[in-house]
Amino acid sequence: MPRGLVSRKVAGFPESVIREMTVLCEKVGAINLAQGAPDFSAPDEVKQAGAQAILDDHNQYTATTGIQELRDALAKKLQEYNGLDFDPETEITVTCGSTEAVAASLTAVVEPGDEVIIFEPFYENYGPAALIAGGVPKYIGLNPPDFGFDSEELKSLFNSKTKALVVNTPNNPTGKVFTKDDLKLIADLCVDFDAVGISDEVYEQIIYDDYLHVSLGTLEGMHERTITISSFSKTYTVTGWRLGYAAAARELSTMIRKVHEFLTVSPPAPLQYGAVAALNLPNSYYERLRNSYSSKRDLMLRILKDAGFASFEPGGAYYAWADFSAIDGGDDFEFARRIASEVGVGGTPGSSFFSNSDGKDRIRFSFPKKDETLREAGRKLMKLTN
Ligand code: GLN
Repeated sequence: MPRGLVSRKVAGFPESVIREMTVLCEKVGAINLAQGAPDFSAPDEVKQAGAQAILDDHNQYTATTGIQELRDALAKKLQEYNGLDFDPETEITVTCGSTEAVAASLTAVVEPGDEVIIFEPFYENYGPAALIAGGVPKYIGLNPPDFGFDSEELKSLFNSKTKALVVNTPNNPTGKVFTKDDLKLIADLCVDFDAVGISDEVYEQIIYDDYLHVSLGTLEGMHERTITISSFSKTYTVTGWRLGYAAAARELSTMIRKVHEFLTVSPPAPLQYGAVAALNLPNSYYERLRNSYSSKRDLMLRILKDAGFASFEPGGAYYAWADFSAIDGGDDFEFARRIASEVGVGGTPGSSFFSNSDGKDRIRFSFPKKDETLREAGRKLMKLTN
């Protein structure tokens, strides 16, 4: 067989459906609720600190692991919000978005052929990141209506080849918030099989009602074997800044730092000063963030209900995971393309969040949007009821 010019590993990747839908929305002029990106401003303090840092000539490489002030501020945040103790000198690494943090973490721990357990529906990056690392993704379902998982099924997936498990809480796209009991099951299996927990917590501050955010790393036996990942994107409305971080015990962090250094050298210099300002915002900022997202969630759910969708109520994150089968009996990709082109609202087809053929009657709508944008999307979606 001819060798070919490209890697078979990469040729097997799916295309990013979120980006495909974003391109379609731009082309047809639809409101883009396919990509989870806010259409409102970042806090002034954060923008000003980033802009000032450019003027102050913080425009060259920084320490590869991120500037000291930022790592110190992150250590404090991790302690106070997550209940996790990390040494900013050796255990916290600032990355180019949580996307890089996930990829660097998997590359740091996975040997070729090792298995990586991923819950589905999943955020679309985890499978490709596991493959880049040479791993073999293994999937386990989060089942509606509450998106719990079958503990026996999870147990049966763990074996001597299992190297890591990726958990995303609150979860994109379902909004599931993993409970302490869920995380305990995961933790016990990671300990028994000597696996690493990779905990993507980028929506940790966007949480509704009485749900509580629990970090996997706080569970017994997990501090040494969990990589806690988060980002500035969602909490501070700066998805384009590409700033995230990975925090892990020294042995893991040393390897993550090696991968990170050779992948990207250092995160964007001036924006790290903006991130320090973000972490210095008062507690009232987070209360306002939650209140604002709660009311956007309620508005989005009302809009979808009126338009004939059956949605699951997210406990966290900023997505509505909706069942469209009462509106259209067709395929999710066709439905998503049709409503973008004909109705003027883009969503992400449900099956793109699965490795199998599930999700064909689902669509994900993102709601980090101005209320007026959501209302306009609502007026357009009402065309579906006629
Ligand atoms: N996290 C966002 C989402 O799920 C954006 C991701 C992306 O552009 N790939 O929509």
